[in-house]
Amino acid sequence: MATISQNIYLTKREKLHCQKCKKVIPKGKAFVAEKEDYNGLCLSCSPFASYTLLPPGNVALTRRSKKHSKLCGVLLFWNQRRRRYERKGQYVEAKAIVQAEKECSSYEVIRANNNVKAAEKRLVQDKVYIQEFGKAIRAYYPNCPAKREFEIATHSCEKYSGRVGRTAAAKQFDTNMIDLAVEAHIRHTETNYDARFGKGMRKRLIRADLKGSIERIMLSWK
Ligand SMILES: [Zn+2]
Repeated sequence: MATISQNIYLTKREKLHCQKCKKVIPKGKAFVAEKEDYNGLCLSCSPFASYTLLPPGNVALTRRSKKHSKLCGVLLFWNQRRRRYERKGQYVEAKAIVQAEKECSSYEVIRANNNVKAAEKRLVQDKVYIQEFGKAIRAYYPNCPAKREFEIATHSCEKYSGRVGRTAAAKQFDTNMIDLAVEAHIRHTETNYDARFGKGMRKRLIRADLKGSIERIMLSWK
């Protein structure tokens, strides 16, 4: 059965009376009615007297607690500046909140577990990627210093982390990709490229300046 939703106003009116107990509902107190200018009840005379106010902010808890409550009283207050009513929480049965909290926490546990699984899977994928890419680099640059191929592959793995289909299919590592990775590696490890920044020379010029020596090293690694 769908939950019956009902508006509850923190009234902005000076003179309101409860239709049942006839008491005055002071400005800023809860008035239970379809509209603020309709006949209505004070909170104690309304079916929400025994309900609990759930403050706004937690979307999942709001939705789930409403689902488990027989009635849901949406508490509205008048925002003078914006000239409209805004939500200030909802009155639902206390047991509905307990039930909703249970559901939310079990959902959180499932999600956390899924995140761990995804991270583990990613780690395995990364290892395979580094191994395979390293091998491809070694095949193309057989004179590359020992273990450098995996250094280069690791960097490439970090750089392209999360990008599309980072599977370790051999066909993925075309020679252009290998060249670019090796070139970047040599630039950062075998030249003074990084040290030359911030000394008034443009990046493009520094690169052009180092091009010859990088190409010589690349050739010697082939
Ligand atoms: Zn009343």
